Amino acid sequence: MRSFKKEDVVGKTVIETSGAVKGKVKDIIFDLGGGVTFLVQGADGKESQIPISKVTGISEHVVVRGEAAAEPGASTYGTTCRFCGASKPAEERWCPSCGRSQT
Ligand SMILES: [Zn+2]
Repeated sequence: MRSFKKEDVVGKTVIETSGAVKGKVKDIIFDLGGGVTFLVQGADGKESQIPISKVTGISEHVVVRGEAAAEPGASTYGTTCRFCGASKPAEERWCPSCGRSQT
């Protein structure tokens, strides 16, 4: 299990595995039950909260599972990341594991 410090994620761009940019991590919210949520500020200034369970990888970007990727049958793990070798859906532009661009 990898662990991260606040400095590792705050200010980074949040990108869905589909390639959609969600915004930038503004802060980290945690509760006493052990939950961690990223507070993300979009380009329009609106804040949204993304639970850490949706985060699939952190590198130069924070990569989160997109809504579309959750659709049954929408994803086929037919390719592997050219950086880390993780299996990934062919249509996803960002590796869910290491967060690197596949283009
Ligand atoms: Zn990767």
